Amino acid sequence: MVPMKTVEPRPAPLQHALSRQGFLRAAFALAASPLLRYVPAEAAEGLEASEVAPGIFVHQGRYELQSPQNRGDMANASFVVGTDAVAVIDTLGSAVAGRELRSAIRAVTDKPISYVINTHMHPDHVFGNAAFKEDNPTFVGHYKLARGLGSRAERYLAINKTMLGEEAFEGIEIIVPTLAVEDSLNLDLGGRTLVLETQATAHTDNDLTVTDTATDTLFLGDLLFSVHVPTLDGSITGWLALIDELGRREAARVVPGHGPHAMALPEALQPEQRYLAAITADVRQLIKDGRTLEDAIRTAGFSERDAWKLFDQYHVRNVTAAFAELEWE
Ligand SMILES: [Zn+2]
Repeated sequence: MVPMKTVEPRPAPLQHALSRQGFLRAAFALAASPLLRYVPAEAAEGLEASEVAPGIFVHQGRYELQSPQNRGDMANASFVVGTDAVAVIDTLGSAVAGRELRSAIRAVTDKPISYVINTHMHPDHVFGNAAFKEDNPTFVGHYKLARGLGSRAERYLAINKTMLGEEAFEGIEIIVPTLAVEDSLNLDLGGRTLVLETQATAHTDNDLTVTDTATDTLFLGDLLFSVHVPTLDGSITGWLALIDELGRREAARVVPGHGPHAMALPEALQPEQRYLAAITADVRQLIKDGRTLEDAIRTAGFSERDAWKLFDQYHVRNVTAAFAELEWE
């Protein structure tokens, strides 16, 4: 644990003067997300982060694959400002994008960035970690994150070097948690506490959720996809079971790993539940009928095709993973 630094007398500003561009962005964000009540912070380098509740800022990633143009900015990343410290929740998909996120934080507060929390091992959530090394934060994650990332590091680095290109790949490092969460853990930021909880295998085997007690905001990482098709790298039956459990929770708002800045329970989970249930039902029927994986990747879950962005990029992989899992039921 990093000791808490001293409290600064100056409170973090909650409102910022808006440029016309900022106003339009705010208007658009409000139209797109009914739960967004506050205004976007203007970052020095232009990375948008909107305040969805007092002291809770969310940057919305693009619905794209990583590219030199987006610099791995394709997942949501958030930061929470306490009276003593700031916690970052996910760091985007490159050190370059991570630095832009850091600038967005510094545009809002100069309190110490004491914690960098990763919701799971995927590069679009962890490859910006290196941008925060200078803050000497405690890096926090699920106890299985280091193992998961370690075994995939070479492949993740190679794929991202190719897809991001030399310039956007610059500075990326694998940084695993220095504080591993076994079950649950509280982080005191001053005036607010973050409750971190490890989850059973679902999106991956190292999913971690975060609740901010001050605003009752629940950060679900990639346990919640909206608009962007869900990607399966853990267990489809585990994920469906966890969705049932999460749907019974109460929170003022949830922040998805991919999707709008903030959403409401339990509705936020419904499209994802429907998508995963469609794959599960179709694949189980195909297996029962003695059909093959080749049949499954042509037919299973295709009723969902028009409901999601990036369906063609990820769906076959999801069906393949589901088939391998459900074959052994
Ligand atoms: Zn993910």
